[in-house]
Amino acid sequence: MIRQFELVERVQSYDPDADEEMLNRAYVYGLKKHGNQLRASGDPYFSHPVEVAGILAEMKLDAASIVTGLLHDTIEDTDATREEIAGLFGENVARLVDGVTKLSRLEVQSESTKEAENLRKLVLAMSSDIRVLLVKLADRLHNMRTLHHIKDPARRRRIALETMDLYAPLASRIGMEKVKRELEELAFSELNPDGRASVLARQDYLRERGERLVPQIEVELVKTLKEGGLAAQVSGREKTPYSIWRKMQNKNVSFEQLADIMAFRVIVTDVTQCYQALGLLHGRYQVIPGRFKDYISVPKPNGYRSLHTGVIGPLGQRIEIQIRTEEMQDQAERGVAAHWIYKQGGPSTDAPQYAWLRSLIEILDKAPNAEEFLEHTKLEMFHDQVFCFTPKGKLIALPRGATPIDFAYAVHSQVGDTCVGSKINGRMLPLRTQLSNGDQVEIITSKAQTPSPTWERFVVTGKAKAAIRRFIRTRQREQYLQLGKSLLDKTFHEEGYEVTEKGLDGVRANFKQATTDDLIAAVGAGLITSREVVTAVYPGLKQPQRKDGGADVVPISRARNKAAADAAKAKKDAAGGQIAIRGLIPGMAVHFARCCHPLPGDRIVGIITTGKGVTIHTIDCATLESFSEAPERWIDVGWDSVSEGEPGIYTGRLKVTVANQPGSLSKLSTVIARHEGNISNLRIVNRSMDFFDMVIDVEVNDVKHLANITAALRATPAINAVERARN
Ligand code: MN
Repeated sequence: MIRQFELVERVQSYDPDADEEMLNRAYVYGLKKHGNQLRASGDPYFSHPVEVAGILAEMKLDAASIVTGLLHDTIEDTDATREEIAGLFGENVARLVDGVTKLSRLEVQSESTKEAENLRKLVLAMSSDIRVLLVKLADRLHNMRTLHHIKDPARRRRIALETMDLYAPLASRIGMEKVKRELEELAFSELNPDGRASVLARQDYLRERGERLVPQIEVELVKTLKEGGLAAQVSGREKTPYSIWRKMQNKNVSFEQLADIMAFRVIVTDVTQCYQALGLLHGRYQVIPGRFKDYISVPKPNGYRSLHTGVIGPLGQRIEIQIRTEEMQDQAERGVAAHWIYKQGGPSTDAPQYAWLRSLIEILDKAPNAEEFLEHTKLEMFHDQVFCFTPKGKLIALPRGATPIDFAYAVHSQVGDTCVGSKINGRMLPLRTQLSNGDQVEIITSKAQTPSPTWERFVVTGKAKAAIRRFIRTRQREQYLQLGKSLLDKTFHEEGYEVTEKGLDGVRANFKQATTDDLIAAVGAGLITSREVVTAVYPGLKQPQRKDGGADVVPISRARNKAAADAAKAKKDAAGGQIAIRGLIPGMAVHFARCCHPLPGDRIVGIITTGKGVTIHTIDCATLESFSEAPERWIDVGWDSVSEGEPGIYTGRLKVTVANQPGSLSKLSTVIARHEGNISNLRIVNRSMDFFDMVIDVEVNDVKHLANITAALRATPAINAVERARN
């Protein structure tokens, strides 16, 4: 227990004009009033008010506050009255003691944050003199320091919760960071001893492993500032277990991922030097954007002033740096208490210099988001950008809303193209995650990966968008080239020729294509038919007779080779150039309807069309409905048995939906070829982000053949839907 003369000496050390006589009288009065009362620890009760007075002396408060500390429990716990205290120590002290007594009668019943917030406001409102709150905080601090003496665990827990929910935030609001930190740590060790122990153990382990990083970084920072001509005090500290725990919980990150476990304080002599120090540190180390806060030009509502920044420190660690003057440091630790001005007669909050103090409670009460407001209006300098880091600490600036894919492309297009996943601050997160300021982003790549068209939906940078589109175009072109080559090969072979570069080069201008590859790709894309190309290269070739009534499809493969083609031709010639349909008048022109593409095996019907002869439809073709009023035009027809099974003469039309992904087009053509079908034409009718809708004309023997191909295509993973095209 602090002895009477010790307490007086402590107060006089910072306030030589303190009322020594009143301090002595208060000490004796309290000692006498509390008499033989004991605390839970077994100590005399009066040791508590004396310790509280000691804490208030540490805060360098005025004599009235110290006296209030000594007397704060007398009205509540002894026969002392407000009147008696007013008579002995004056109305001022009586009012303060009464205020503390009323505060002590409040009990936090609820653990809900909302109610705690209301209670904080109530406490502030009741603390019409800020010293009431300061004495109450000192009271709570000492009670927390001695909490372990209370035997009832439920009571210990209630007090610790109240401290965490009510008093620590209040201390923080009036800028008393030191008191806040201690209250939090004490409450934390009561509420979650295991959690605290695990953080401490982890800190110990990292400290050993880190070979005392803090002193090394301190030395480096001092050196950097000295080289810039600035003498500064630098002190490093680790964050408290509770603040680490809370961050781990709020951000749901592990200990190792938690940045700024180390914080450094740079103390200089004046404000100009604060900015000089900032310039030197920013000039030397990589800044972590979003961390810089200028609380000197815009102080916090509780009066806190300092420069805050985050950098990648001298040893490659992310560290937090606070730059301030000695005076600001004092303010930061002691909050409102630092503003006490000691004058003869004691401080009065009615004096003009305390106007700020009177308005403080009002500010805190009515504008709890004042700080947030200021930060967002004045300090958010780059609000449309986010700044992130590579694992090596390289800064990547991106527009707000950017994703790891944007980040990857900003690093290098190769990184973007092969990106498969992302770790943000050590956690695996989806590629569509929006990045925040200061995020450290690690891109996981795989050589097997290629850009996905779906990425285009959520990337925000032009670079990423262009790269994804470029890749998709390139890949598409590769597929068209492949398809175009195989279509040309087949058609040329049918006519007994080989496709040559020279041959294609000679005719590409006819098709307005800049290169032979462009020509091949155009064939693959279905813009030019391979038949048109072969007849351009060999103009002597006769355009084969169309058997589909002048449809846009030109059959290119009648047989597997020239000999077979000749045989088929001969057969056809023998049939008088007619297609084998039963029930038709010889010599009558026949067309296959473009709407339903009838195949041998399909049930068919003929419709007499003015000037065109007979058009063959499948019996289920929807077009037939328009002829229902003209039964005289219907002709009953069927397939000639000779024509059935004749290889590769008929064209079946399929509607296919293919996934818009690399390789799917070549899979499609492979499957069709494997089932002896020939693609004679391919047209993409709809191209969405995810799918191609295509119409493919396949040369088949009959409807069974087409059904086989359809089944095989349906079994192919990249192909989503296959159906015979109708209309
Ligand atoms: Mn007390």
